[in-house]
Amino acid sequence: MDADIIVIGAGAAGLVAARRVARRTRRVLVLEARDRIGGRVLPHPLTRIATPAELGAEFIHGAAERTKALLREAGSAAIDMGGDSWVRKSGELQCNDDNFSSSARIFEGSRSLPDDESVEQFLRRFEGDDALRETAQAARAFVEGFEAADPQLASAKAIADEWESGTDSTSARPLGGYGPMFAHLHNDCERAGVRFAFSTRVRRISWRRDGVAVDVRGPLGESQTLRARAAIVTLPVGVLRHRGDDAEITFEPELPAPKREALAHIEMGHVVKVALWFRTSFWERVARGRYHNAAFFHIDGQPIPTYWTQLPVRSELIVAWVGGPGAVALSGRSQPELVEMALAGLGELLGEVELARGEFEGGLTHDWSGDPFARGAYSYVAVGGGNARAALAVPVGESLFFAGEATSSDGQGGTVNGAIETGERAAAQAVAALGVKEIA
Ligand SMILES: Cc1cc2nc3c(=O)[nH]c(=O)nc-3n(C[C@H](O)[C@H](O)[C@H](O)COP(=O)(O)OP(=O)(O)OC[C@H]3O[C@@H](n4cnc5c(N)ncnc54)[C@H](O)[C@@H]3O)c2cc1C
Repeated sequence: MDADIIVIGAGAAGLVAARRVARRTRRVLVLEARDRIGGRVLPHPLTRIATPAELGAEFIHGAAERTKALLREAGSAAIDMGGDSWVRKSGELQCNDDNFSSSARIFEGSRSLPDDESVEQFLRRFEGDDALRETAQAARAFVEGFEAADPQLASAKAIADEWESGTDSTSARPLGGYGPMFAHLHNDCERAGVRFAFSTRVRRISWRRDGVAVDVRGPLGESQTLRARAAIVTLPVGVLRHRGDDAEITFEPELPAPKREALAHIEMGHVVKVALWFRTSFWERVARGRYHNAAFFHIDGQPIPTYWTQLPVRSELIVAWVGGPGAVALSGRSQPELVEMALAGLGELLGEVELARGEFEGGLTHDWSGDPFARGAYSYVAVGGGNARAALAVPVGESLFFAGEATSSDGQGGTVNGAIETGERAAAQAVAALGVKEIA
């Protein structure tokens, strides 16, 4: 045996799982295809600018107790968001109240439907309703922008569950970005004796009741088979679902039917996120300081419609964002094209095209949809997939355990906090199955 437990993936779920399992056994091996930890958390520190460009996860959504506890452990903290939202309507930017709660309420009606419907189908019934037409449009925009989902595929009932009225819709940011928290998890793992193999791609997982054999391709292209009593699989759904000649991963034997059924009902959402940094935070000065406390800007009808500042930290960084079908429409665009598009969009939005160009210093993006180790940004539930997340989380026999954001079924799917919780859950399941008692 090469390890008691092999953890596949060194993102949030994998690091948390490895750290927890390591309380019980030092024979833990983490296999990671990239040459770094973090997975879909990808901070890019910038010289001179106080906030890193977070090319993956950036915010903390809702209460997120586990994330906040980890930040405290790492000597960091969550800082509450604040600031105004500005929306461009009839050619002018107007300060806008948050309409997330009314968007969430409109989905409540989907609970009484006999059968699930797509978000598109469900919202279409409000088209002729003068009182609710605008709310329905805002709700569709949230599904695309926030869930990164295609309204034609996303489940209306699942959105109702995830956005349940009363859900804490507040947001915060990790002070200094997510980097320190992930470095802390990695250090803790290493201190506990967890071994890491980076640039090591898992290609095949052969599972039996009493153990697993994992075929990997190492950094120099060399093949190897590693054996363990169990594996914790934290691979993104995009990777698990991807089939064909360039499939990253196969299971031997195939995963049981309920697991394949679950995977068929969880889609990967798509996002284009561009970080732009400037000589100064010029948007705070334009229009006689009107946008001094701007957190978000939104402009309909543009290829990249949403922009945000780093408030409450005043920094020279702006993030441009489009999710869902709008992001798919931009697939194949090069990094310089996307940076240019974002810069032009920001200038136009503020009515300060020349100033934005003059102040511009640099921009960066990451192609998550084209990334073979992600194949999208984060997951959402497709029509008819009410219990798909829970089904994906169920262990297979006593040797295969599943974690990762897509297996989080309490409204935390698609988030870092959800991934953390699933890593803890899968580690506890694996330890229990191996018959070793965990030290609290
Ligand atoms: C652009 C973007 C913005 C986001 N914004 C937010 C946000 O603001 N707030 C929030 O909470 N969440 C956000 N998310 C989602 C969040 O990043 C994820 O939910 C979370 O990081 C997922 O963690 P995970 O451990 O489940 O998966 P991952 O982080 O993807 O970890 C899985 C690991 O498996 C590895 N892997 C893949 N294939 C193989 C292979 N064949 N062999 C070995 N290893 C492999 C991957 O490299 C990866 O490291 C965002 C995501 C993106 C992409």
